[in-house]
Amino acid sequence: MPGSSRVPISLRDLTSMKADARKRNPRIFFNLDLVRNLVFAWFVLRHFRRAVRQIRGRGILGTLHSLYLSFLRLSYGAFLSLPGVRGKVQAQVDAALKQIEDKLVPKGPGVNRYLTLPKNGWAEEAIKEELGKLSELKHASWEKGQVSGAVYHGGDELLDLQSEAYRKFAVSNPLHPDVFPGVRKMEAEIVAMVGAMFNAPANAGGITTSGGTESILIACLSARNKGYRERGVTEPEMIIPITAHAAFHKAGHYFGIKVHEVAIDPLTLKVNTRAVARLINFNTILLVGSAPNFPHGIIDDIAALSRLALRHNIPLHVDCCLGSFLVPFLDRAGFPTTPFDFRLKGVTSISCDTHKYGFAPKGNSVVVFRTKKLRQYGYFISATWTGGVYASPSLAGSRAGSLIAGTWASLMKLGEDGYVSSCREIIGAAKIIEGHIREKFHPDLYVLGEPLLSVVAFSSKTLDIYDVADEMSSLGWHLNALQDPPAIHIAVVKPTVKHVDNFVRDLGKAVEAAKKKEADAKKEGKKRPKGQAAALYGVAGSLPDKRIVDAMAAGFIDTLYKA
Ligand SMILES: *Cc1c(COP(=O)(O)O)cnc(C)c1O
Repeated sequence: MPGSSRVPISLRDLTSMKADARKRNPRIFFNLDLVRNLVFAWFVLRHFRRAVRQIRGRGILGTLHSLYLSFLRLSYGAFLSLPGVRGKVQAQVDAALKQIEDKLVPKGPGVNRYLTLPKNGWAEEAIKEELGKLSELKHASWEKGQVSGAVYHGGDELLDLQSEAYRKFAVSNPLHPDVFPGVRKMEAEIVAMVGAMFNAPANAGGITTSGGTESILIACLSARNKGYRERGVTEPEMIIPITAHAAFHKAGHYFGIKVHEVAIDPLTLKVNTRAVARLINFNTILLVGSAPNFPHGIIDDIAALSRLALRHNIPLHVDCCLGSFLVPFLDRAGFPTTPFDFRLKGVTSISCDTHKYGFAPKGNSVVVFRTKKLRQYGYFISATWTGGVYASPSLAGSRAGSLIAGTWASLMKLGEDGYVSSCREIIGAAKIIEGHIREKFHPDLYVLGEPLLSVVAFSSKTLDIYDVADEMSSLGWHLNALQDPPAIHIAVVKPTVKHVDNFVRDLGKAVEAAKKKEADAKKEGKKRPKGQAAALYGVAGSLPDKRIVDAMAAGFIDTLYKA
């Protein structure tokens, strides 16, 4: 650089300068070297430990396989970002989202849209009329029992009672127990009743939350905090069955917990507990099992998970969100059951959705911990806030006391005999559906595993099961499409019970239609046209990188907020 007064220094000069300095002040340099070496050793050790854990957890073949999958994902991702490809993909995503919008968001001359506050408030009559119209917008017909899960209706009489309870406590908020002592009492009693259903020990403690997801989030948070405070775990990991609810991934995402998914046994569809055992290491803060899981309605081997939890002294959460008020009453209703609750000593927390088969109003769930200390690990407390000392048991601050009143009223109205008889009704219907699929639709359809509860998942070795799903959709049924492996399920709810015969009849039609489609396509030597489920899951399942699915899903949520 002309005019610069800096003298260029060569590497050799630098080394000799360092050597000179070292002679002048040997202590400092010795220490710096030491520190550098220690940092390097720590770095190597850390990665070495990770590598050892990975190989011990997944085996050499498993590790190679996941490396291969990462490679596929990376190269496919790179392909998608190529300038020519990116635009095309975006155009297709936009087109698909446009279709979804046309279906979900009513438009046109007959539709009044309200995008700002009305200048003057409406008359009550007008509002009621509008509400009536809104509740009758064209929808999947849950009233005819054609919707799987989703509507956990306990009957009109119960609905009236809940509305009354809701009205009485409409302004209440459990954040202020001194103002609403009745709500505090009801909440504590709901937790006690659910704890008793699951045989919680005397020192147990629980909370109510806004739903299964929040119950699971708090269970994971508690386990993470326990791992940190008791053992100094700063890189927490949890081990979940691949069939566990998405809420566990949400917990991992929110709370910085690494989630290890474990495959299920191909025959029983229960989590492979030997694979779980291999993945346990110092960082493991939680094991998870479902009773039952959402996709296949199968209860994991909770007894085996409990033994693992005890042996390694790690918490075990059992997700009974779906099992809720069915799984504790199976034996009393006369059905086979399997151990799942606090009677297994390794089980440290259970989530139970009162708003599912408890028939409580939507927005209520319970998580019960084996000890009050575990419950405390989930609390949030701020001792120094300028607004005063602030303490809350879960994610929300203010909560709806009305929902607690509605839930309490539901539990008291049904009582043990009510839940036993609804269990008998619902599981009875599920067994009929299962039996028909096994006998009547063999060999076209087969049932996945041996379900003990309300969910019957089925698939096909001869047909594209998504075609069957699409045919069922066109007959008005709203079933759940599953992936990995492709399958569909029906979660029987009360409204379904009376319509089991219709379900079986329509499933027969759907199978015939899917067969015909397959045969026609074969005759003409063409690929058969794909319906909605077949298109979505067919494509999604074959993509190594899910960014297109992610883009579609994000766009879908955006669509929900189009006024
Ligand atoms: C429904 C469900 C949950 C929680 O769902 P929410 O929609 O948050 O109530 C968790 N686990 C399973 C198995 C479920 O079926």
